[in-house]
Amino acid sequence: MKILVINSGSSSLKYQLFDMKKGERLAKGLIERIGCGGPKDHTEALKKVVADLGAPKDIDAIGHRVLHGAEIFKDSVLVTKSVLATLDKLVKFGTLHMPPNIGGIRACQKIFKGVPNVAVFDTAFHQTMPDCAAMYAIDPKYYKKMGIRKYGFHGTSHKFITAEAAKFLKKPLARVNLVTCHLGNGSSIAAVKNGACVDTSMGLTPLAGLVMGTRCGDIDVGAVLSIMEAEKKTPEEMDALLNKKSGLLALAGSSDCRDICAKAGKGDKQAELALEMLAYRTALYIGAYNTVIGGADAIVMTGGIGENSSEVRERIVKRLGALGIKLDRKANKIRGSLGVISTKDSKIPVVVIPTNEELAIAQDTARIVGR
Ligand code: AMP
Repeated sequence: MKILVINSGSSSLKYQLFDMKKGERLAKGLIERIGCGGPKDHTEALKKVVADLGAPKDIDAIGHRVLHGAEIFKDSVLVTKSVLATLDKLVKFGTLHMPPNIGGIRACQKIFKGVPNVAVFDTAFHQTMPDCAAMYAIDPKYYKKMGIRKYGFHGTSHKFITAEAAKFLKKPLARVNLVTCHLGNGSSIAAVKNGACVDTSMGLTPLAGLVMGTRCGDIDVGAVLSIMEAEKKTPEEMDALLNKKSGLLALAGSSDCRDICAKAGKGDKQAELALEMLAYRTALYIGAYNTVIGGADAIVMTGGIGENSSEVRERIVKRLGALGIKLDRKANKIRGSLGVISTKDSKIPVVVIPTNEELAIAQDTARIVGR
């Protein structure tokens, strides 16, 4: 079975082609500058994908990364007319990402006639959260009228590393308890009990939780209101400030964690503070989520930072001593590969597991069309 995976953004379209029987990736590519110098729209971009792949006739299904499934899509879904109509109604939950996500699906329906499309949602894995974790302490009318609650993101990655961790720990998926940390340019943590998500650090939008590349993560809403009032900012301007101009970028001049580590190594105080803030908040969530799930079988780290940065991992794990977690500094040198970075006598193992969101989307697509 051949599965094409599409990650369609506002100005770019990433794709990967998998042979599921052989478990191999056959091709990978990126079309850029859609609507700004490159292909005029997503249909034109897909024509380029078809040309790059040598006009394949044997694609069995197409899997699409879709940002938001709200409470409607608790699992990946085969795209039908009514699913597309529902997706159109969910644009309000992601005005930046949802239109290109949906545009990518519509373009595939035109270009790959008769090939089934499957929508795989960033929010779906978190739909098992209990209300006590998902609801905000505001007038319930905002939930009822507008769907204001915590949804969480990076679900495809958290689900993938949960399954990989269960295999690695030799535990049935339905019995594995984990704190999964996806640490990249965008970062989130999930509390996983018996294989299902019971809490996560992102919220209604991906702005909440950890200190990220350009997002502030958790902040007192009172601070947001004060800035808006003092600088007479519009909601759009404030959104841009918190999502695109905060986090590591605001604290130390770069959104790239490698730059921040290099600066901190040269004694830059702001870079040092940024790294400590990132590590502190991450450790805070790990401690809280370990409590939520009644004790983790493992702490799992993934994403660009989680997979590659020994320095950031060390700064986080050093703060987890109260849980009996101990870092093995030599083992912590691994980069981009699976391995345990805690000592043998660490009360909870810390495991690095590379994520593969595209493969996870392909696996889900195969599962859905195979039904
Ligand atoms: P992602 O969004 O998952 O692609 O992760 C991107 C982030 O991973 C960026 O902040 C990179 O600086 C960071 N990253 C990648 N490799 C390393 C590394 N060796 N050390 C520190 N950060 C890294």
